[in-house]
This record gives sequence, C-alpha cells and structure tokens, in this order.
Amino acid sequence: MPSSKFKIVFLALFCQMLVCAVTAYAGDSETANRAITLDGLHLPTITESMLRYSRIRYALFFFSTFYLLGVLFLIMQSQLASRLRDFAIRANRNKVIQIVIFSVLLTVAIALFTLPLSLGSGFYLEHVFKLSDQSMIDFLIEKLKTIGVSSVLNAIALLIFFGVVKRFRVHWPLVLWLISIPVFALGIFAEPIVIDPIFNKFTPMVDGSLKTKITELAVKAKIPNAVILVADKSKQTNKMNAYVTGIGNSSRIVLWDSTIDKLPEDQVLAVVGHEIGHYSMHHIYWGFGMIVLATLLLVPFGYLGSNWLIAVLPKRWQVGSLSDYAITPVLMILSVSVGFFTMPLFNFVSRYQEHQADRFGLELTENRLAMANLFVTFAEKNLSEPDPPAVIKFFLFTHPTLKERIEFAAGRKVD
Ligand SMILES: [Zn+2]
Repeated sequence: MPSSKFKIVFLALFCQMLVCAVTAYAGDSETANRAITLDGLHLPTITESMLRYSRIRYALFFFSTFYLLGVLFLIMQSQLASRLRDFAIRANRNKVIQIVIFSVLLTVAIALFTLPLSLGSGFYLEHVFKLSDQSMIDFLIEKLKTIGVSSVLNAIALLIFFGVVKRFRVHWPLVLWLISIPVFALGIFAEPIVIDPIFNKFTPMVDGSLKTKITELAVKAKIPNAVILVADKSKQTNKMNAYVTGIGNSSRIVLWDSTIDKLPEDQVLAVVGHEIGHYSMHHIYWGFGMIVLATLLLVPFGYLGSNWLIAVLPKRWQVGSLSDYAITPVLMILSVSVGFFTMPLFNFVSRYQEHQADRFGLELTENRLAMANLFVTFAEKNLSEPDPPAVIKFFLFTHPTLKERIEFAAGRKVD
C-alpha cells in the first residue's frame, strides 16, 4: 500500500519531535550548571528559575513543532482540508476567490487548534516567570491581528503557488523559485513598514545624551544616515532586545524601549554597536541570498518528487493533484519538516554572523566591560541559561551562548 508510506514517514517524524521535546527539558544539568570562571567581572547568577524557564522554552520549541505536525496531519485525516475545499468551490465560481476563502478558513482553523499552545507559551509561561505584564485581552487582540496578517500572507502565497502550478505543468518548480526571489525581497522590504507597525509603535529616539552618543557611533561606523527607531515593546514583554530589519529604504535599526529604559547607557551603546555591526556588514542581504540559494536546492525535489507525493498520499485525504489546493496542509507538513532539519545549518551561519556583529560592536565602542555586562544582564533579566547543553546550542541557538559572548567580550577567548 503506497499510501501507508507517507503515514509511516510522518509517524517517525512525529515521534522524533516528541523525543526531542522530552530530552530538551530533561537535558544535562551538569553542563548547565558548569561554573563560568572569569576574573574581574560580575558573572551571571544561575538561578533555578533561569534554568527552568530556558529548559521549558527549548522543550516547547520541539513540542510545538510536533503539535503543529499533528494538527496538520489531523486536518488531512479528518478530511477537513477537502471539506474546506468543497465549501470554497460551492461558495464561489471564481478560482482566485475560492483559494482566498480556503486559505482564510484553513489559517483560522490552524490558529484555533494551536491556540492552547500559543496561550501556554506566549502568555502563561511569560507571566509565571514575570517576563510579561500584558493583559489577556491585549494578548488575544494581538493574536487576532496575527491571524489577520497570516490570512493575507497565506492567501498570497497560495495564489502564487497554485497559479504557477496550473500554468507551468512541467517547469513549475523553476518558475516558482524565480518568482519567489522578488516576492521574498518585497516581503523583507515591506515587513518593517507595513506589518510591524500593526503590532508596535516605532518612534525616532528622543534628543539627549544617549541619542548624541548613538549618532557618534553611527558616524564612526560610516553609516551616519542609518535610521534608528524605538519600538514600544514593553507593552508585550519585560525582556530586552534590539534588531536590524528591512532592505533598501526600509532598512533600520530598532531598539526595544525596555532596552533603553532598563539598561545603563554604556550597555545600550554596546547593544547599538552590535546592531550597527549587522547593519554595516549587510547581514540581512546575506540572509536573503542564503534563502534564495537554499530554495534553489529544493527545485530538483519539486521536479522529481511531486508525482511520487501525489501517488503516496492516502486516498482518504481526497487530494486529486498538485493543483488541488486541499493539498496545502501536506505542503505545510513538508515545509515544517524541511525547516526543522535545515535549522542547525541556518543557525550555524547565524551564530557566525552574530559573533561578527559582537566583534564589530566591540571595535566600535571599545568598551569590553560594558559588552560583557550587557550579556550578563541578558542572562539574568531575560532568564537565558548562559551555558546550554551542546545539542541544544547546535539545534536552536541563533546566537553564540551568553557564556561564549561574555568570554569574548571580556577578551578571554579571542578567535
Ligand atoms: Zn545580533
């Protein structure tokens, strides 16, 4: 029975996620408690709640991947996908409108099925560990906004996918890849100016000594015109962070207001130095290039694997062909799985870039102690375990561990 093959592969994947979730929580406590020995610096205090919070977050990542795969599988197995498709066909004759209806209904269904998990990880966990003061109402309003945004983005993605598959029966994988390049670029350009403002307010920095010093750093790094904005992130979280986003005219460095309000000035400058590093070294463009290359590698699988895929899908799922949009949850299962297994590679590259940004920031600010203390603050206030088990770092860490970053900033381990 070819149809059972898909289920067997799926079941193996499913169990794998569950095992990962359990081991991520149990972890190796000896590694986690290993003492950091550095002189002349206030080192992070490793607390029970820091370890518990970090471990729950690792486990939750694996568990939510496992849970999402389960939800997608059940959407197929219960014939919900084919029923939503039949409903969309009955509702309107126009194929474009059918896909939009189907996409919105599917997005809402997935959001409802995964709501318990997002409530647990996004709301309760953060409140239990006092990392958020957001009210339940505000959290749910934000969730509704997310569903709205995802509905629009998913509808666009499905319209492009099924449009291309229908028009280019043989060469759809190549055409899809070519079209995805400008679409990704437009997405990265539009995100900070169209999507992010739906969730947060972004304002220029107020005049003062901090702004003057940040401007001096930008001038020194030869990016005097870089846009630096403050996001009102404190309404959602007590954590501190900053990031670089956008391309071309939408490029910007964003500091969370919590970062500015809670950190001493020299540590804010250390954050800014790191972000200026990402900005100056064009890390967003490198990331974009990597996505383009990685998706190119998927093209042969599209040519070779799509007929096989249709043949092995269980009959019960009622998917006739690749252009049948009831196949969407199956495509999502595939992309979640590919994303899961390629994540260590992307994170490896990301850790390298983050280290480069640390190095750039250190050379720019010339303040080792401020940067080391910043990472100590991140560990203590964001409840991030400084020295996670190696396997967790390999799989999940987009940044070097805080232990490594403290050591680098303190000049103990310069490579
Ligand atoms: Zn960074």
